[in-house]
Amino acid sequence: MATLEIRDLHVSVEADNATKAILKGVDLTVKQGETHAIMGPNGSGKSTLAYSLAGHPKYTITGGTVTLDGEDVLEMSVDERARAGLFLAMQYPVEIPGVSVSNFLRTSATAVRGEAPKLRTWVKEVKETMAGLQMDPSFAERNVNEGFSGGEKKRHEILQLELLKPKIAVLDETDSGLDVDALKTVSEGVNRVRATGEVGTLLITHYTRILKYIQPDFVHVFANGRIAASGGAELADQLENEGYEAYTKGGASA
Ligand code: ADP
Ligand code: MG
Ligand code: MG
Repeated sequence: MATLEIRDLHVSVEADNATKAILKGVDLTVKQGETHAIMGPNGSGKSTLAYSLAGHPKYTITGGTVTLDGEDVLEMSVDERARAGLFLAMQYPVEIPGVSVSNFLRTSATAVRGEAPKLRTWVKEVKETMAGLQMDPSFAERNVNEGFSGGEKKRHEILQLELLKPKIAVLDETDSGLDVDALKTVSEGVNRVRATGEVGTLLITHYTRILKYIQPDFVHVFANGRIAASGGAELADQLENEGYEAYTKGGASA
């Protein structure tokens, strides 16, 4: 079983000609088959963790390690991370003008699998997965993220997740900007992937509402650039009732 191990991760970002330390010693282990939720107030560094795992150049690793089955993730290019089985869905996905969803998915699948998927089975697979996410078939011909609504962006994210079948998936605020129906549909997609038992999921979220549809095995409270507490699903209920205040005292995290 694949294991993602984050050890004492420190990350800084350059902003206004100053270096700002954001992640201050993150420790986390996610195994294939497990579902983890990271919850925390705005500005606590959740997306910074996701960007750092994705290898975004704006985020400088100043300490610690990230490994996937013992392999150094931080040394890998973005492509190598995908091939190693990491899937990273960002809070604000980028537009790719001139590239259709259909082409993008096939290119991604080819990169991850090391060979182009057989066209006939692939087309069927894409159609079925889109239907499961209640996406209109015409969506496949649109350009990636161009003019997508919040819900379309998130469905497109889960469509990739279901088709690419990674070992470890990091989903940053997959629930933000979704109405209840879209939230349900998107959660069902995540749960289908989960039911295979072959994906470890790190669900980053600010609100507890998605956890009504996707029950996490582990919940971690993120505050001031690190994990302040860990527990089971009951921890999410406690956060729902009490908020993050108990974890944010003594540090800025507005
Ligand atoms: P969260 O996802 O928990 O809301 P973020 O990781 O987005 O938190 O942000 C954590 C802190 O890092 C914030 O103070 C934010 O302003 C800062 N930050 C993150 N990314 C950048 C960036 N690219 N440039 C400048 N500041 C950043
Ligand atoms: Mg935020
Ligand atoms: Mg964020």
